[in-house]
Amino acid sequence: MFYIGCHLSVSGGYEAMGKTALDIGANTFQYFTRNPRGRGFKRPAAEDVAALVALMEKNGFAPPLAHAPYTFNPASAEERIWTYSRDSMREDLEVLETIPGALYNFHPGCHVGIGAEAGMENTARLLNEVITPGQGTTVLIETMAGKGSEIGKTFEEICHMIEMTDSDKRDRVGVCLDTCHISDGGYNIAGATEEVLDRFDSVIGLDRLCAVHLNDSKNPLGAAKDRHEKIGEGSLGIEGIEKIVNSPRLKSLPFYLETPNELDGYAREIALLKELRKD
Ligand code: FE
Ligand code: FE
Ligand code: ZN
Repeated sequence: MFYIGCHLSVSGGYEAMGKTALDIGANTFQYFTRNPRGRGFKRPAAEDVAALVALMEKNGFAPPLAHAPYTFNPASAEERIWTYSRDSMREDLEVLETIPGALYNFHPGCHVGIGAEAGMENTARLLNEVITPGQGTTVLIETMAGKGSEIGKTFEEICHMIEMTDSDKRDRVGVCLDTCHISDGGYNIAGATEEVLDRFDSVIGLDRLCAVHLNDSKNPLGAAKDRHEKIGEGSLGIEGIEKIVNSPRLKSLPFYLETPNELDGYAREIALLKELRKD
């Protein structure tokens, strides 16, 4: 089964996202758990979430990917920011327990001068405080482009953060691979797809990989920039994207588009990707 979806707005509610996904030919989707650049939080109505869950079950959806807002910085040395990130993440995870098998994606953060090692320690400490052993949701560390002081730009850094989580919580920690980010981070996922996955497997282990952010990039390999491009219009190119969606080791994973598109553009990309996909 090809699980493909895109980032959707949560503004109309949860069930509405499921309906929109169906309208554009998707069988999964991503959304922000709260305003990505603000601090407000509105808990969704339980009936609305239940209606979405029913819609997803009926239509054979892959789990939705809930994306944490950009205002979190789990790597921060600033107590106020770190605590806000932790408490908000706990709140998000509490809501997600009502969506069976949900995935929760977050950016490991920016160390802002304290160094990558100290930043990674802060992020792992936060994970240890928000994850409950036995919870239904898997928390995914997103692979980053390495812009500014971002941590999580190498597979080694991602692995290091996972290894610092408590052993009884570690099975709830996974990875979301962003194809634009890792290309900008210097991994040639478009040109040497299988070699990059070999590398991922030997450093982190492919069993940790739970989701793919499928994006083209406006910048060349290794640019450390993080600017997403429409599918086939960037440096990964249509051939690179075709290899990625057909890779035997990625095929069973859900793919989420975060390309610069409105809904009609996403519908066209989803149709194109279904054509590129061999089965
Ligand atoms: Fe992200
Ligand atoms: Fe992403
Ligand atoms: Zn990005």
